[in-house]
Amino acid sequence: MYADPTKIICIGRNYAEHARELNNALPAEPFYFLKPPSSVIRNGQSIVLPGRAGRVDYEGELGVVMIDRCRNLAEKEVFAHIMGFVVCNDVTAREMQDTAKKVARPWAVSKGFDTFFPMSELRMKRDVPDPASLDIETKLNGTVKQKGNTRDMIFPIQRIVSDISGIMTLERGDVIATGTPAGISQLHAGDVIEITIEKVGKLTNSVVSD
Ligand code: MG
Repeated sequence: MYADPTKIICIGRNYAEHARELNNALPAEPFYFLKPPSSVIRNGQSIVLPGRAGRVDYEGELGVVMIDRCRNLAEKEVFAHIMGFVVCNDVTAREMQDTAKKVARPWAVSKGFDTFFPMSELRMKRDVPDPASLDIETKLNGTVKQKGNTRDMIFPIQRIVSDISGIMTLERGDVIATGTPAGISQLHAGDVIEITIEKVGKLTNSVVSD
């Protein structure tokens, strides 16, 4: 078993079609936000919709898991420090996030509730030879909602991890969520959300209200 993350770092707007669906400009530089380790749940556990949150959305994403403590990595050094990959869901309280954007507040609340970071079992790096070319598919109650490929990332994995490692020391087990393709929508109590990434695995979670 690998270490639990000491932190989860997410990139915003890393797929052009998703940025457009939320009426956001394409970023010229990558930008990040954190999710707390307390937001992690595993495959098969339930996402809990907080009553105060309003609309809550799924975001299917490829997660990169680090193998050791590292900092200031050059892009060509990044893959040596990756342990493997996970399927993850950057669950987002969308109305709270929209309000935060309007008044220029951080996203700690809209992204940080307990259960807002489901992640799958780890797939080791050797089993995922080309993470820059993986199909991502999200099904909500059996209906396909997101269908993307990691080749459509605006900023590739090497760039993101190198950049983040120049800001904060990365620890064994830390997860970097690499952004979601288009097709996000709302979760309701009783839903089942299923995210599949080619070669990495499948993450299935039910949804309940608090
Ligand atoms: Mg996201």
